[in-house]
This record gives sequence, C-alpha cells and structure tokens, in this order.
Amino acid sequence: MPEQVIRGLGVSPGVVCAPWLPFGSPTRTSPGDPVSGPPDQELERVKAALDEVSAQLKERAARVNGVAAEILTMSATMARDPGIVSATEKELAAGVPTAHAVHLAFESFCAKLEKLGGYMAERATDLRDIGGRTVAVLRGEPMPGIPEPGYPFVLVARDLAPADTAMLGGSDVVGLLTTEGGPTSHTAILAKSLGLPAVVNCPDTGRLLDDAPVLLDGTTGEVIIDPSPMRQRAALEQAEAERARLAASGGPGHTADGTPVHLLVNIGTVDDAIRDGEADSEGVGLFRTEFMYLGRPTAPALDEQIESYTVIFEQFAGRRIVVRTLDAGSDKPLPFLDLGTEENPALGVRGLRVGTVFPETLGTQLTALSQAAAVTGADLWVMAPMVATADEAAGFAELARSVGLTKVGAMIEIPAAALRAPDLLASLDFVSIGTNDLSQYTCAVDRMAGGLAHLLDPWQPALLDLIALAGAAGTAAGKSVGVCGEAASDPTLAPVLVGLGVTSLSMSATALGPVRLALRDVSIDQCRDAADAAVAARNPQAARAAAAAVLGRA
Ligand code: PEP
Ligand code: MG
Repeated sequence: MPEQVIRGLGVSPGVVCAPWLPFGSPTRTSPGDPVSGPPDQELERVKAALDEVSAQLKERAARVNGVAAEILTMSATMARDPGIVSATEKELAAGVPTAHAVHLAFESFCAKLEKLGGYMAERATDLRDIGGRTVAVLRGEPMPGIPEPGYPFVLVARDLAPADTAMLGGSDVVGLLTTEGGPTSHTAILAKSLGLPAVVNCPDTGRLLDDAPVLLDGTTGEVIIDPSPMRQRAALEQAEAERARLAASGGPGHTADGTPVHLLVNIGTVDDAIRDGEADSEGVGLFRTEFMYLGRPTAPALDEQIESYTVIFEQFAGRRIVVRTLDAGSDKPLPFLDLGTEENPALGVRGLRVGTVFPETLGTQLTALSQAAAVTGADLWVMAPMVATADEAAGFAELARSVGLTKVGAMIEIPAAALRAPDLLASLDFVSIGTNDLSQYTCAVDRMAGGLAHLLDPWQPALLDLIALAGAAGTAAGKSVGVCGEAASDPTLAPVLVGLGVTSLSMSATALGPVRLALRDVSIDQCRDAADAAVAARNPQAARAAAAAVLGRA
C-alpha cells in the first residue's frame, strides 16, 4: 500500500519514526458480569491485585523524578488504602461481581473526594486510574494508560490528562500524536519540555495501520503512515544531522549580523530550576510561581517562599531571572485563594486581579522575592500576570518598588494591554508577551479548546498585529519586550517576533537549540522583512508561508 499522509498541528519539534500504540482506556465493568467465586476468595484476589498495582506504581516512581515521582508515589500509597478493601468487601458480600465491586468501591471514594472540591477533587482522577489498573490486573487485561511495551513507540491518544502527561517522562514514548488538543494545551507544553516530537489536533488517526510504523514531524504536523524504507532512512539522517548541528551550537542568542536576542527558559518549580539551570540559556524568562503551590490548601509563608526562591535564584547566578507573581484563577486555581464560583473564570478574577482580593498574599510574595534577591544578588526582574490597563501596571510597579524591587514589568496577555503598551511602559521597565492567553483573548477562544485550535494559531495575523504594537512601544521606549508564551519556541516564528521588535524569547529548555540556530541563519533586516510579510497576510497559513519564503525556508 502506498504511503498515506495525515496532518495535524506540529507543537513540539523533531522527527521520529517508530511503531505506534494507543493510549489504553480502562474497560467497563457491569453488575451483569459473571460472579467468579466465593466472596472470601475474591477478596484475596482483589488484595493481591491492589498490591500488584501499588508495586508497579512504586517501581515507576523510582524511574522518574519531580512531580511525576510524587504523583506515582502518592498513587502507590492510595492503592494500599484499607478503606478500598473494606468497601470492596461490602460489595462482594452483597453478591456484586468482583471487577464491578472494585469499580464501585473506588467510585464511592472518588465521589467523596469530588464533593470536597479543589485539590482533593483532582485526586479523584488518580484514584480512578488506580481502580482501572486493579480491574485490568483482575481480568488479565492490558493496563490502562500509557503502554509499557519495552520498546520506543509513538503514543496515540484523544488527548492526555495532566496526570497522564506526568507519566511520560520515564516511559518508552518517543513521540506523541493526539486527535484533539491545541498548541497551548497541557500536552503540547509538556511534550516540548520533554523534547518529545508532538502533533496534536490530527483528526485522522483512525487511518493508522496496525503493525505499521509512523513517521511524525513535530514541526510541520505531517504524519506519514507506513513510510517507505527510503523515507525512513532519509528522516533518520535528517534528524541525526539536526542533532549534530544543535550539539555544535551554543551561547547567547543573536541574528546572523549580531543583533542580540536573549534566549531564556520557562520554569515552574525548584526541580525545573535545578534541571534547566544546566541548560545553555541566558537565564529565566518566565518563572510561573503558581506552579509551586497548585493543590496547596494553605498559603505559602514568607520564610518558605524565601527559601525556595533562594534555591532557584542560585541555579541562575549571574543570569537574568524574570519571575511572575502568582497567576491564580481560571485554568490555574489555587485552593488557598478562594475566589468563589464564577460563571466565566477566564474573564473573572485572575492574575493580578487576585492581588486586589488578597493583597496580603501579593505583598508577602513580593517581599519574599526581594529578600531572596538580596541574599543571592540575583538579577531579578518581577512582572505581574494579566494586566489590562496602564493604571494597573502603575499600581503594581509602585507596590513592587516599595519593597525594594528594581526591575518591574507586566505581561501582555490581554489585547487592551498590547493596544496601550506605550502607556504601560511609562511606569514599567519591561513587558513580556504571553502569547497563550493573548491568542485566547484576541480570537475569543478557550485556550484549552482543541476543536478551535486554528484560532489559537500564533501565526494569526491579528495576534501578530498586537505583538507588533507591543514591540514598537518597547523600541520607542528603549525597553525590553519579551515573548514567553509557546509562540517563542517556534523556530520559524522566532525571527518574525524579533522583526516585530521582540528582544528576548523564553521557552522550554529543549527548544533553545532550534531557535538559536534559526536566528543565527538570518539578518535583522530579514527578520523585519519576514515580519512585514507575515503581518500583511490574511490568515495563518499565508503568514507562515510568506515568512518562510523571506527566511529562505520555503
Ligand atoms: C501565556 O499566557 O502565554 C503565558 C506565558 O502564561 P501561562 O501560559 O502561564 O498562562
Ligand atoms: Mg498566561
């Protein structure tokens, strides 16, 4: 059969050719399943299955670190909870078939957790996963979740839940292909941070052939089903050459004719800082501080914050560190900041607005940052998320300066802020464009809505117009304009952003190399010409093609 090509959105660069396997969905249980044996005997089987699941999770926890290890260790402990055994025992005694009894026992605990809301409700997903695994062991079926075949493979799924993506690190997955999900989805961000080539929003995965490999290009979004041996060889050679080119490059970012473009990393936790501190970057362009406190029932105290910021700043000694104050609300709820129920949280109290409801939390964080900088001598830049107006920017700048912070900025994530960037910059030292949210608010599309991914495409000319306004404001004021959304890691878009006036790009560490090389290939005039060509286009495809032609990548 000739090769077939299907297409999605390339969201994490790299080419990979490997067999594919589907994400395992848990099988359903039913009260009508045949009853297997006497309740006592079945309860022993259930206990043995729970032990096996717990042991497997522990073993996987030992293979990864950071958040993934924490989630897996916690799941291993949950699997041994005596409450699950006694709830199952009750169901078995009532004559419920074994697998369904286990399912009901887990569901009763999930319902309790979900009722508690917030962090506890999120744990229900993990508990359900353990229930599904236990049922699989009892039935001798393949494990739900990410397969573990013992060889490298491309994982094919509808989309991945955050708990699943946490498991990708220590797995055999070498590429990701999903039918849903957009360029700013959790899957895309995590794939990039792990350096896994990924294509999302590919509706035709149903055409993949069993037992035939796929060749996936995470830059173009092209997926070739059953590629010819010649094409496989060519792809491997190309990937090898790219790896060699990347390995041979390093150092600060700049265009071919020497215009500096600072290349920075995005981090969210102490573990990220320890890992990415080793990367060849010029510092941190976005430290998402809220990531350290997701799921925390109580606010982090001043001392605790000083301690973690100090460790993080030490990893980047002598380099720039741009820290964002807590961006709570909407897609990142923090349980200790109870914002009540909002009809439309993405348009509600979030980002800097949370600071007006909880001024003490913002004050404590700014003080902790200032003290950690004093201890470490860090080159600290502090910015507020979700700033809409010049008055908000001025208010934040005054507050931050009052505790001794000297470089104060704001994120440009709301069209209003981009339109009035000159007014914002009057009271700020810098701005950083969050293209993930700026896309969402420009085209009025939920950033998690995979089905509307084309409207979240960072090449949308309207988004480029807003970036151009912020870039021009920065150039006029002689102040730094960064991009720290996912758009910064697209090697073709990077020169366009620079042409629009952007002076730094912040991304996951694995994206640094391709972006560095892309910039070194082109002059600043080419960047400006590519930007003009992209802005003049009518739609994202035309913008991408026009820029690629100017940059010699067509
Ligand atoms: C953004 O919105 O582009 C951004 C960088 O912030 P976050 O993704 O954390 O909302
Ligand atoms: Mg944002």
